[in-house]
Amino acid sequence: MRILLVEDDPDLARELVDALERRGLAVDHARDAEEGEAFLRATQHDALLLDLGLPDADGLTLLRRLRARGVTRPVLLLTARGAVEARIQGLNAGADDYLVKPFDTDELHARILAVLRRQGGYVGETLSCGALVFDIAGRQARIGTTVLALSARETELLELLLRRQGSVVPKRLAEDQLFGVGGDLGSNAIEVYVHRLRKRLAEAGGGVRIDTVRGVGYMIAAAAGA
Ligand code: CA
Repeated sequence: MRILLVEDDPDLARELVDALERRGLAVDHARDAEEGEAFLRATQHDALLLDLGLPDADGLTLLRRLRARGVTRPVLLLTARGAVEARIQGLNAGADDYLVKPFDTDELHARILAVLRRQGGYVGETLSCGALVFDIAGRQARIGTTVLALSARETELLELLLRRQGSVVPKRLAEDQLFGVGGDLGSNAIEVYVHRLRKRLAEAGGGVRIDTVRGVGYMIAAAAGA
């Protein structure tokens, strides 16, 4: 899962990025509204954490702009204590939830999962493909009773493929999700992870495979009857 954090306080941002990444979320950090918009144009995030007080634009303005453009992804507002009026305006402008600073990072993580769940079951407890079951919160994949030993990036790739089951995951999107937007990487970096993930899936049995769609990307599929 990839989260966009738009927050201008560098210490708070660092703390939140660390805390969420420890819980298995990938986080892009934008320091202001303009950078936030650039990230949103470049890749797809599952949820947005939006500070209301940004240096270049009011967080509310950014939120209204996103909703007006049809960006429906969940938005959590990070607001200052006492900013009741701003929170009400935020909820009216289409925010899904808010947290008042200072807040506990466990609570933030729980709220993120909660808004994702509310969005039409986008986050269930698990994702599955054939015999493969992926526990989203626990970051664990298994086939039958066999738990797959996956690295953080292999896990991220598997989740991305599972969330887009039935359609092709473009190579560029997979790269952005695994390495961050504009990350400096070799041209075959993603192939390395696809190769490793295929190997883990094959070792576990169960007939789940990753198909390469030439010139486009990758797609996960289960053998018929699996
Ligand atoms: Ca701020």
